Amino acid sequence: MRVPAEARVDLDAIGGNIALLRERAGGAEVMAMVKAEAYGHGLVEAARAALAGGASWLGVAKLAEALRLRDAGVTARTLVCLGVPGEPYEEAVARDVDLTAGAGWLIEEIVAAAERAGRPARVHLKADTGMSRGGAAGDDWPALVDAALKAEAGGHLRVAGVYSHLACADEPGHPSNAAQLDAFTAMVGHAERAGARFEVRHLANSAAALTLPEARFDLVRPGIATYGLTPVPALGTFGLRPAMTLVADAALVKRVPAGSGVSYGHTYRTERETTLAVVPAGYGDGVPRHGSNLLEVLAGGRRRRIAGRVCMDQFVIDLGDDELAAGDEVVLFGPGDRGEPTAQEWADALGTISYEIVTRIGSRVPRAYPGRAL
Ligand SMILES: *Cc1c(COP(=O)(O)O)cnc(C)c1O
Repeated sequence: MRVPAEARVDLDAIGGNIALLRERAGGAEVMAMVKAEAYGHGLVEAARAALAGGASWLGVAKLAEALRLRDAGVTARTLVCLGVPGEPYEEAVARDVDLTAGAGWLIEEIVAAAERAGRPARVHLKADTGMSRGGAAGDDWPALVDAALKAEAGGHLRVAGVYSHLACADEPGHPSNAAQLDAFTAMVGHAERAGARFEVRHLANSAAALTLPEARFDLVRPGIATYGLTPVPALGTFGLRPAMTLVADAALVKRVPAGSGVSYGHTYRTERETTLAVVPAGYGDGVPRHGSNLLEVLAGGRRRRIAGRVCMDQFVIDLGDDELAAGDEVVLFGPGDRGEPTAQEWADALGTISYEIVTRIGSRVPRAYPGRAL
């Protein structure tokens, strides 16, 4: 069935990116971060492709995401990075999902769930080494370690890992990277002297995995690089291959006279008689409305700027005297091979990061996996 717009996801690119990251990780394991629908690429499909490419762990933000992986039959070690109250932790323990604890109350909640589940929970302690987001810092750290080790001695919990997250890894050389690295080393050292025996210590996101070898420890946690987008645009692509191509078939092509106002508010007006094409993808699909009169797409082999405002379901492009037929494919962004913009280029134009461009592509846009056996 043809659909008006679709996101084509190159699963081989995901596998290849993981292989590249693994090589760069110098012996550390790879946890592919597949939260938020694998940054828009499709949770289960992307997770399978990452595992096939050599990842040995998966990382998600929310417990529901981990349970969806289990429902789909994905059995790889999976870490939930957010710890919030009232989650179905008993089910998490029963289904062998690794949990994060960055506060004492969460240890208590997880222990209670483990008792009900009748087996120990696997927990990674989260250290706040300077981002001031999740995790324990200051005096809370020894208290958290202490609570976790007591629960481990009681048989309800296994302290499987310890980790932290970098605030400025996308700015190599930023002084906070070295400061967080030192803080992490000190906090892990404290926990180990207190008796913790961690399976995995981990700190590096994509940017650190590619630019900060000292941050690799036992495991790296690449997200954006898994999908082929650079975590440090100023340093180029690192040889990564973008996995997502967003396409839409032109819905309508028509000639209009000079002076025609286009789309809501008439923020674009044709300078002369010209051909307009309607592209059936809008902000309801994740095309940013801030991209009105700004973002480019590839149509008929040439770059065209969005003419006028992006609507909920569609936008318009001005083709001049070029020809395009209804049904012809318009490429919004992709790896760039055919001259189309990349998600990075859209992000630069909009003053945001590529993460937001791919992650916001909505559930109304079907994901297609070309080349995968159905
Ligand atoms: C999202 C996330 C990552 C991945 O970050 P990227 O910059 O996309 O590589 C790593 N670790 C944690 C804890 C995360 O939440």
